[in-house]
Parts: sequence; C-alpha cells; structure tokens
Amino acid sequence: MSKGLVVVTGGGGFIGGNLVAYLKEKGYSSIRAVDLKPLDHWYQRFDDVENLSLDLNDKKNCEVAAKGAADVYNLAANMGGMGFIEQNKALCMLSVLINTHMLMAARQFNVGRFFYSSSACVYNGDLQHTTDDGEKFVPPALKEGDAYPALPEDGYGWEKLFSERMCRHYAEDFGLYARVARFHNVYGPWGTWFGGREKVPAAICRKVIEAKISGKHEIEIWGSGHQTRSFMYIDDCVKGIDLIMNSDIEEPINLGSSEAVSINQLVDIVEDIAGIKLHRNYKLDAPKGVNGRNSDNTLIQEYLGWEPNIALRTGMEKTYAWIYDQYRLREQGAAGVVQEMEHFLVD
Ligand code: NAD
Repeated sequence: MSKGLVVVTGGGGFIGGNLVAYLKEKGYSSIRAVDLKPLDHWYQRFDDVENLSLDLNDKKNCEVAAKGAADVYNLAANMGGMGFIEQNKALCMLSVLINTHMLMAARQFNVGRFFYSSSACVYNGDLQHTTDDGEKFVPPALKEGDAYPALPEDGYGWEKLFSERMCRHYAEDFGLYARVARFHNVYGPWGTWFGGREKVPAAICRKVIEAKISGKHEIEIWGSGHQTRSFMYIDDCVKGIDLIMNSDIEEPINLGSSEAVSINQLVDIVEDIAGIKLHRNYKLDAPKGVNGRNSDNTLIQEYLGWEPNIALRTGMEKTYAWIYDQYRLREQGAAGVVQEMEHFLVD
C-alpha cells in the first residue's frame, strides 16, 4: 500500500466519492479529493480528507491537485448516461483538458502512480450488435483488442480512447506508472439518479419508485428494451480499481460485470424488488446507445484471478433502497444528495 498522499479527482462524484470511502476504510490516512463542484454539492464528503473545489480543465489547478501526490486516481470527467453523452459530445470531448493537464502535472511533480478511468464506450461500435439466437438476445463480449480499429462512441468514447492512449505514451516516453481500466456501466448508492445525467439502473429505479408512489402504474423505457448491457456494482468497481492500480497490468483492461441483461430484464428485476408490475411504454426515438455489449473478463481473470462478481439482483436491491430514501427525502423538501449540477458543468 502506498503510504503517501493519494489524490482522487472527481471525488465529489459517484465513483470518486465511493473510492475515497473505500481508501479510507483500507487505512489510507492522507487523501486529497478534488472536484469542480462546490463542496456542498459533493455526493459524499469526508472531514478527515483534504477536499478541494477546483476546475481541473485548468492546468494550474491540476498542479495544485497533483502536488505532493504519491498516487493519483483520475476520475474527473464531464459525463453522464446516454441521454447526456449523445447530446453533449463537445462537452464530453473537452474532458481531454482534465486528462491532459493531470498527466502533465503528474509528470511535473513526479507522481508515483497514475490511474485513469476509461470506459467501454471506447469499443468499436460496429461490434456492438446483439444477435437473436431465437430465444434471447445475445450481446457480444468485448475483449480489450476490440477497441481497434477504432470506432468508439462519438464524442465521449473518442475522448476516452485518446486519453487512455496518452497514458500509454506517458508511460512509454516518460516512465510514468500508469494503469487504465475500461469501466462497464457502474451503478450503486451515491450515483446520480435524476437531473439528466443518470444512467439506466438509477433511472429505472427512480421511474419504478415514481410509479409505485404515484399509483400510476406505467413506465417509459428508452428504446425497444432489447438493448443489452452488463452492470457493475460500485463495490466491485472500487475493489477493481485498487487491484488494477496495484497490479502489473500495463495495458487498458476491462473492469465490468459479465452478467449481461436486456433493459427489459433489468426492469423485471426492479419491478420484482418493488413488488409491482408496470405497463411499459417504449420510446423508440430516445437515446439508447449501442445495441448490445458485455465485458469479456478473460484478461482480468488471467491477471488477477478475480472479476466483478456481485450479482445484479443484490446490487440493485441496495441501489433501489438508497434511491427510494433519496426520493422520499426530496419529496419532503430535505436536501438528500444534491444533484442539481447542470450549471457548474454545462458551460
Ligand atoms: P460523476 O459525474 O458522478 O463524477 C465525475 C465527477 O467529475 C463529477 O463530480 C464532476 O463534478 C467532476 N468534474 C467534471 N468536470 C470537472 C472539472 N473540470 N474539474 C474537476 N472535476 C470535474 O461520474 P462517475 O460515474 O463517478 O464517473 C467517474 C469516472 O468514471 C469518469 O471518468 C467516467 O467517465 C468514468 N466512467 C464511469 C462509468 C459509469 O458507469 N459511471 C462508466 C465508464 C466510465
């Protein structure tokens, strides 16, 4: 374990906040969390952590963030679910400033180790069609080599692919210890659950809760419901980040669950947890991303003898319960986790 200062960028967000909690739990005593949002808008904040509100698009701020760090976990990005990334391609691509400046600052201050959070959105879109085997829709399991020839998700995926490539060249040319994981849809408590940036597991929980509380037993589903994805519970994600940072894995590696489900199956699970059945309205022209994708975990198994393994049903029960509480708090006018962040991030 590194004994020095650990920096987590995006520490006011979903994965960053959970990573800070995990590192604290593991006994790291010197942690700096950095995020663009004002401190009272962070999803989680810890008193014994140095919390800095800084815009990491700016190189000078990246220097403040990286100075003295032994390890940097670079999770800051202007991002969201499909509804956000399909309609904000330029903003997503501008996160290249964060990653460029954080790498430059890491080199300048001789940071010991650098972790970069890439995404399954780097994979070639042409490979991401489900096949119908007559009984069910089978998504392709994407292995690391499938990122090339490159045809990533427009905007967000191109930025991720470029930035992971830049990590590689910082390692090759400047000797930076860099680790890169390609996250496949992460979900869990403390994630964005409303406001336009939420991802599908949180959105479905919220819609089911809304239907249950209002008594209007209907749900709108984006696309045909046959799109397939795998979803990784946050506890697996932070554990995987830690294992990868401490590993010999020098190439970008998948960090995702291999339990793929269709969106309809995900709705089945949430309905079951809520004890309700809803009429489904399919919105075919809504943003829905690629047709199907799963994580091929052969490589991570080879390296670590481990892969994300928390069952979707188990993770969704915890996520549903957390969003239910947040929903109730909001209804009662209590703050809950503040998620109105558009004006910090959108211009
Ligand atoms: P998130 O939006 O909750 O967290 C990202 C944080 O970065 C936010 O709190 C945001 O305020 C901060 N940020 C944005 N611009 C910034 C700036 N200029 N300076 C400083 N901070 C800034 O998202 P998340 O789900 O926690 O994602 C963390 C990382 O993981 C991101 O890089 C994301 O692209 C990647 N990722 C996430 C998923 C997922 O399913 N959640 C999947 C693939 C990759």
